[in-house]
Amino acid sequence: MPNPPMSNDDVSTYEVVIVKYGTRTTRRSDVFLNYHLYHEPDGPMGMDYFFWVLRNGFRTIVVDTGFSPEGGASRGRTQVASVPSLLGALDIDPGAVTTVVLTHAHYDHAGNLGLFPQSPVVVAEREVEFWESRYAERTLFRHSMDVDNIEQLRKIRAEGRLELICGSSVVAPGVEVIEVGGHTPGQCLVKVDTPDGPVLLASDAIHYYEELERDMLFSSVADLVAMYRAFDTVKTMVDTGEVQHLVSGHDPGTLERFAPITGDLRRLASTIGAPRG
Ligand SMILES: [Zn+2]
Repeated sequence: MPNPPMSNDDVSTYEVVIVKYGTRTTRRSDVFLNYHLYHEPDGPMGMDYFFWVLRNGFRTIVVDTGFSPEGGASRGRTQVASVPSLLGALDIDPGAVTTVVLTHAHYDHAGNLGLFPQSPVVVAEREVEFWESRYAERTLFRHSMDVDNIEQLRKIRAEGRLELICGSSVVAPGVEVIEVGGHTPGQCLVKVDTPDGPVLLASDAIHYYEELERDMLFSSVADLVAMYRAFDTVKTMVDTGEVQHLVSGHDPGTLERFAPITGDLRRLASTIGAPRG
């Protein structure tokens, strides 16, 4: 069964849905790397957790799969709604999702993979290699990873559903996955064509808009230079108009920047390029 029929009948443009499934309150000094270097007061800072859906009349692509209930609970995160219930509210049958794209393999982006037993899963080869390497066990990396998720990825590979990419790759008409590294070894951006112009899902290359605007790096980094380089890549894409809408990975202000979805998903989802009429 295809996912819900849409009036959008262009095979290469999509509606992008930003879905919030979790939240927490942290502090600026926890968010920004070496915060003392900025000589600014500390203070509370919200952090929201999202996954993203790209869909048209032909395809439904899920970008990242959120943290598992256990993965969120063990770190004290608040789940505002479960990923399966949010997919249900969007009329998405997980068993019929065309493709799952993982921007990286952190616990809050690669949980719940068991919900999608049929879908090919696209992820950077470098990302999978890293999380299977001995460095994944080191304290500063281990905190962000769930062993169960890496096990799931192994299972998906054994089933022949893992699609490993290197550099950048067009994974469907109008959907390009672009590897930038930095935050994790194989962190990716996802560029999507919509009827309202190209959208960049920055995921954790840009957790907060403030990172990009003020050139402040997030605290969790695999490669400092690559993370700055990813800022430059995103800035160039925005400045040249290559992308018209920038979607952050965790900024609590993200949903307000785009058209809210009402009904069951009120305050939990916004949309770009929704079919009209
Ligand atoms: Zn994240």
